[in-house]
Amino acid sequence: MRFAEIRTVLSACLRHRPARTWLLIAMTPLLAIAPGLTALGLQWVVDGVLTGSRPLLVGGALAAAAAGAFGLAGNRVVQVQAGLLAGEVGPELDKEIIRWIATMPTTSHLEETASLHRIEQIRGLGQRIVSFGVSGLVTVQIVLWLGITAVLLARIHPVLVVLPLFAVPSMLLSRVASGKIEATRAETAEHNRAQQHLFAMITESASAKELRLGRSGAHIAGIARHLRGQRDAALWRSTLAVSGLTLTGSLLFVAAFIGALHLTVRLALAGDVSPGTLLLVATLGGQIRGQLELLIFAVSNVVRSAGMARQHLWLRDLYQSATTGTKPSPVRLRDGITLSGVNFSYGGPPVLHDIDLHLAAGQTVALVGDHGSGKTTLVKLLCGFYRPATGTITVDGESLDELDPAGWRNRITAAFQDLSRFPFLAGESVGVGDLPRIHDIADAAERGGAAQVFDRLPQGDQTQLGKSFSDGVELSGGQWQKIALSRAFMRSTPLLAVLDEPTAALDAASEYEVYQRYAAAARRWQQETGGITLLVSHRFATIRMADLIVVLDHGHIIEQGTHAELIERAGRYAHLYGLQAAAYQ
Ligand code: ADP
Repeated sequence: MRFAEIRTVLSACLRHRPARTWLLIAMTPLLAIAPGLTALGLQWVVDGVLTGSRPLLVGGALAAAAAGAFGLAGNRVVQVQAGLLAGEVGPELDKEIIRWIATMPTTSHLEETASLHRIEQIRGLGQRIVSFGVSGLVTVQIVLWLGITAVLLARIHPVLVVLPLFAVPSMLLSRVASGKIEATRAETAEHNRAQQHLFAMITESASAKELRLGRSGAHIAGIARHLRGQRDAALWRSTLAVSGLTLTGSLLFVAAFIGALHLTVRLALAGDVSPGTLLLVATLGGQIRGQLELLIFAVSNVVRSAGMARQHLWLRDLYQSATTGTKPSPVRLRDGITLSGVNFSYGGPPVLHDIDLHLAAGQTVALVGDHGSGKTTLVKLLCGFYRPATGTITVDGESLDELDPAGWRNRITAAFQDLSRFPFLAGESVGVGDLPRIHDIADAAERGGAAQVFDRLPQGDQTQLGKSFSDGVELSGGQWQKIALSRAFMRSTPLLAVLDEPTAALDAASEYEVYQRYAAAARRWQQETGGITLLVSHRFATIRMADLIVVLDHGHIIEQGTHAELIERAGRYAHLYGLQAAAYQ
């Protein structure tokens, strides 16, 4: 556990609810003093009675009553205030987490398994981070209390100091124990997610067809059950181990307590200490047990809170490192976009190797290659969803990392094959391509083909889409693609327009028509802003229209040039082109 995590929780509380947080901080030392004062008061009462000292008796009774009452009421106040604090500050942390996840310019956190694990652990946990984090104050309170108790006991006999020290192994063991449970939870997070994914597969209509044809529903349910069983077994094993550790700690202390009482009785019989001292030791010893349990609980809460806060810090750092750029994007491209020595991997084997490529301003560039050759990855790097492992991407000589990500996004438009099916009104589904102009969709809807889709919907562009609404209409794959394409046409002056196989569900004639309409509009803005169009397609009728064709193979650029140049070269492109041409003959 590092100090940074505790500081994160504390500073969030101070920022959002300073008064409540300061109240809790102020209560900490007072509540640490109260139990010791109660025990002392009780000793004074007994000694007052036995020695006939009225001041000792009355003072002792008052001290014991006041400290006891304050301890009881104060702890209750702290509990309530801590609950309120968690309820108020937790959602603020959640909001922050959601904002980071949703607005992070890069998307690697949503695609890499390790990052997904971490995000799963923090999603919606703000309240728990705070309520567990407040246990940090309880821990401080009990540690202070242990110190006071040590002083009181040392006054009786130096050897009694070891009594509260027996809390230390117990504390350490409980820390190990909570760490163990946390680690098991983290290790089995993948099981949990896989199981949820499988459940979604059984219940989603998208996979229903294949599941029924392959009769694999029962098989998948079996895998989900197995994963669940593995997770439960792992958690059960670590809970058992944790119980053993905590019990060992407690037993150790009970033995020491009995020894301490024995010693005090002998001291009292020898007349070295007053008889009331026995009550002091018994009260302090009795408190140690309760405080010890509270300490174990508080420490394990703090460890859990720190574990969650660590993920919170990780996300914050990731967000900050992804949003370092501040420079504005150029209004118009003069030179173009240049990739130099770009290498990239998704954490596994390299996916792009030493990519050197110049996309000249105003050009239409087509990426060609087998599935998995790295086309979409290249597109994602250009959009700024990922950063190259090595090498640079520059826009008119300016590094993409230096540009303000939001500004660059405003100048990009893209339509992907794995398009989003937004459950909005049909018109809005197009309009969100450029939020400030969400209702100004006529032109984009015409060019991307959404207008034809609207014509067939019961309420036209006011029809609710998506099956999550009772009145929502589900579209066909091709219709969703037309909506997505139109959405991509919303931005009227992009610097980079990407069409990554968004027309794969359309027939060849419709795709050709879409690209013709697109090319007509693109010519205008390509001249106006020097914008670049990047096409990914498997259809050569579309590809051959490009000014530059780039052929990728296993993450390497193996050829580039115009259609005529590449045909003349008689290499890979010419071969693929020949295959498709032959198939149409
Ligand atoms: P293409 O667009 O040419 O079909 P991609 O760029 O999608 O190729 O993929 C290139 C390689 O990167 C493939 O081997 C693919 O398996 C891998 N890949 C793509 N996306 C991811 C991801 N999110 N995580 C890990 N590997 C990925």
